[in-house]
Amino acid sequence: MKDIAPPPPILRNQFETIREQFTKNVVPSYGRFDIAFSHGRGSELFDVNGKRYLDLGGGIAVCALGHCHPAITEALVEQSKKLVHVSNLYYTEQQGRLAAELVSRIAPGKVFFCNSGAEANEGLFKLARKFGHDEGRFEVITTVNSFHGRTLAGIAATGQDKVKKGFEPMTPGFRHVPFNDLAAMRAAISPATAAIMIEGVQGEGGITPAAVEYLLGLRALCDEKKLLLLMDGVQCGHFRTGKFQSFQRILEGVAGAEKFVPDGISMAKALGGGFPMGAFWVRSPYADLLGAGTHGTTYGGTPLACAVALKVLEVIEREQLADNVRTTGEFLKNEINRLAKTYPGVIKGARGMGFILGIELAENIPAFAGSEKPHAIQFVNRLHDAGVLTIPSGNQIARLLPALNLTRADAAEGIGFIEAVVKKLA
Ligand SMILES: *Cc1c(COP(=O)(O)O)cnc(C)c1O
Repeated sequence: MKDIAPPPPILRNQFETIREQFTKNVVPSYGRFDIAFSHGRGSELFDVNGKRYLDLGGGIAVCALGHCHPAITEALVEQSKKLVHVSNLYYTEQQGRLAAELVSRIAPGKVFFCNSGAEANEGLFKLARKFGHDEGRFEVITTVNSFHGRTLAGIAATGQDKVKKGFEPMTPGFRHVPFNDLAAMRAAISPATAAIMIEGVQGEGGITPAAVEYLLGLRALCDEKKLLLLMDGVQCGHFRTGKFQSFQRILEGVAGAEKFVPDGISMAKALGGGFPMGAFWVRSPYADLLGAGTHGTTYGGTPLACAVALKVLEVIEREQLADNVRTTGEFLKNEINRLAKTYPGVIKGARGMGFILGIELAENIPAFAGSEKPHAIQFVNRLHDAGVLTIPSGNQIARLLPALNLTRADAAEGIGFIEAVVKKLA
């Protein structure tokens, strides 16, 4: 008789063993928390010691359907039995179908597939250079506190000194102006400017949504000065705000904004629901600027990645997760604001919309005075002890970027954990 083997026992010192291997063998470019995960399901994660966490960080806005969603697993298994990769020398049905699905949710245009957010932005920078090339224009203006990825052009585009430090000289052609400041943007435009790039909601910079007038003003400015308006939707896109793209949510119901559309949008993070994938969309008049031989990547848009992304989209729409993002996001935001009212010495307030939310911490929380570490890190660490995962953003903000299918019950449980920590800090 063949017995089913029992799962291996949990080793209590497994974390130290894993960390040791990292210390010896992994480039130490990340500041990691002292947790090693072993498995997950939905918005639950379990570390190697068997401790359970409620995941409100979603792998930094990646795990759109939570962990190990059966539909994603099935799409991966079924497609990998048929075809994984053939290269972009050929056509596959999946890539064309996914492109059509993305285009149909934005506006007439075309899509290029790549593998990450930085690479998607890189493609948009190349688009901008191609667009301006014949007139000698090459510059892309971005905003202070933006984040656009870690490649050489990505760190040049990012409006934060900390990502540039030690990697100078910067790739030329990028300048930064304050976010949500239309006059500053207008003043910064030079004869060399080809494009403007902004995030619809600044993510790494502390969860700051673009204002309605800012978006509309930038569109008018770009039309007037013949510039491309590029939007980095890597973190705030893919229904995280309650609409497919953040500008669709921000401009919802705004008279005269129906026709607003950027010229390029980068995507990644939630696009593959955890399977690595990036893409950018280009609006129709510019969709053929990158002609044959001008841009490429070996892995972009494999049938496997596209099959998964198609499934993610299908589940989001079938289960009406955009509505869930709105209602559950509203609940979370109201609860954070309630905590801010009750414990003003700890929490200043809530930022953001949908499932891209920030808990802004008060300055100089006495309980944090004993450590050099920023408030955000100390707060996130205490939340870990309480059993909930969030993502620090800057020094004063903890971000919530949960799975789009986070339930109301999960959200309420998360608030309970957060409130317990906040109460102790007060
Ligand atoms: C994460 C992120 C990127 C970079 O994406 P990678 O996949 O890490 O290269 C770019 N822009 C924004 C807004 C992001 O949040």
